[in-house]
Amino acid sequence: MKTIRAVLAIALSVLAVLPSLAAGTVLILDYHSFLGAKSTLDYPIADFAAQLDRMKALGYTFVSLEDAMAGRLVGKKNIAITIDDGNHSVMAAVEEVLRPRGIPVGLFIYPAAIGRSKTVLTAQQLVTLQSEGCEIGAHGYTHQYMTPRAWLRNRKQVLREASLPMAALAKITGKAPSVFAYPYGVAAPGARDAVRAAGYAWAFLASEKVRFVDPTDPALNHWAVPRTIVYHWNRRAIFKLLEARAGP
Ligand SMILES: [Zn+2]
Repeated sequence: MKTIRAVLAIALSVLAVLPSLAAGTVLILDYHSFLGAKSTLDYPIADFAAQLDRMKALGYTFVSLEDAMAGRLVGKKNIAITIDDGNHSVMAAVEEVLRPRGIPVGLFIYPAAIGRSKTVLTAQQLVTLQSEGCEIGAHGYTHQYMTPRAWLRNRKQVLREASLPMAALAKITGKAPSVFAYPYGVAAPGARDAVRAAGYAWAFLASEKVRFVDPTDPALNHWAVPRTIVYHWNRRAIFKLLEARAGP
């Protein structure tokens, strides 16, 4: 009897420890530009800063995409910040908002645009951002759709979006990207296969839905990881969920 009690006591103590050993989860947020422009995807830089400060005040930890996907997460209150498209305003967002707060960021870039217009980052800025700790990922080559419809209409173009950015980004930054975000957030199964075949370890979708992910979950498709786009119209819902998860 004593032995049974001892075994039970050990089992209970192990169970008590288990929640802290449980895999962490992360919400991957997707921003775009910081111009103060009239777009549901754009935020004035002070507004962006206020959002991040609110997340921190709710008890969330900002993690890098690299740590998140490696499963280096503690608890369920983790947020990874990503910014798509390489708008020139990303420079100020990183230097004035993210760096001073020590918040890591993943930048998804379509390399054909780099240096081609004043609205996007220059190659030199991209090099600087990488040297400052930003993780640079691919976002297609010329930002074409990779959706099921695009796959049916112009498979060749979809395949180019998957195969071309790695070498092009490596030429600019000196480092081949290991992460990919599908332009417009949607990918046909064939497009996911092509991105996987191109050598990316992880690829990200994007939608308005708020979904925390556990990167160590065996059921998680590494080439279809959800991200949440922070639109003006869904930000209230995002913060509502963040507050609910943060507890009273
Ligand atoms: Zn995009």
